[in-house]
Amino acid sequence: MIADDDALSRKVLEDSLLDWGYDVLVTRNGEEAWEALSQPNHPNLIILDWMMPGYDGVDICRMLRRRQGSRYTYVILLTSRDSRKDLVMGLESGVDDYITKPFDPEELKYRLRIGERIVALEERILRMARTDYLTGLLNRRAFMERLEGERNRSIRDGKNLSIVMADIDFFKRVNDLYGHQNGDLVLQEFAKCLREACRQYDFVGRYGGEEFIIGLPGTGLEESKLLAERIRKIIEAHQIKTPDHNTFIQVTSSFGAASIASQSQASYDDLIKSADRALYQAKKDGRNRVAWEATLT
Ligand SMILES: [Mg+2]
Repeated sequence: MIADDDALSRKVLEDSLLDWGYDVLVTRNGEEAWEALSQPNHPNLIILDWMMPGYDGVDICRMLRRRQGSRYTYVILLTSRDSRKDLVMGLESGVDDYITKPFDPEELKYRLRIGERIVALEERILRMARTDYLTGLLNRRAFMERLEGERNRSIRDGKNLSIVMADIDFFKRVNDLYGHQNGDLVLQEFAKCLREACRQYDFVGRYGGEEFIIGLPGTGLEESKLLAERIRKIIEAHQIKTPDHNTFIQVTSSFGAASIASQSQASYDDLIKSADRALYQAKKDGRNRVAWEATLT
C-alpha cells in the first residue's frame, strides 16, 4: 500500500510497484491510509509518506504499533527530511525502514524485498504458534481465540454458535497395544476425518491429548448433533492401517454437543463447560455415542 499526498510521487511509486509485480492499493492522505489499514485483511507491506496533511506517516506508524492483535505490518517511511534528528524520530515511531525522496528505484525495490521476507517470516512463525504440530489442526490456544471471536460475531449477527467436543474412547489402550507411533497415527487419522466431515467455515482444534473440538458458526444444536453423529459413524467404520505391521486399528469416539443462543448472557467459556459435561455424559452412558445439553439461552 502506498500513502502519499503528492500526485506525481504517487504515480511514480505506483508504476514502479506494478512493474515489480505487486498488487498496489493507493491512498492519498493519512485518513485514507488509516481507513485502509483498519480493514481486516489490510496490506502488510506499506510505504508511507512522512509529510501528509491530517495524519502524517509517523502518526500512522505510531497508531499501527499501538494497535494490538493484528498482523504485522512492515512500514517503509518515505521522507525528504534527512537530518539525523528527524531520522531518530521516524525510527522511534516504529518504522521498519525509511527511504529519502527523491528515491532511487533500485534501492526501493530491494528494500521492499527485505520487507517481504520479514513479513513472510512473521506469518510463518504465527502459523506455527497456532498449529498443533502432530495433526495440523488449531492448537488449544488458537481455537479458544477463534471461538471468542466467533462468539462476538454470533452476538452481532444474531446467530447461534455451537461446538462439538470429541474424545477417542480408550485411547490409552491404543498406545499400549500398538505403540506410541501408531497412537500418533490414530490421532492424525482422527483429525483428518474431523476436517473432512466439517464445512469450510467450521474450525477444528486439538483440545488436549486425544480430545478434539469443532467450532460451528451460525449453527444450532440439532445440526451439531447430526454432524457429531455423522462423524461418530465415520470413525467407527474407519480402519487405520499401520505402516509396519499390516494390521488395522479401529477406534470409537464419544461426543458432547453444546450450543449458545445469540442473545444469551453466557460466555464462550460456558459453552466449553456445557460441551465438556455432555462429553462426560456420553462417556458415562457407555461411550461411542453423542450426548448434548440444552442450548444456553
Ligand atoms: Mg507529502
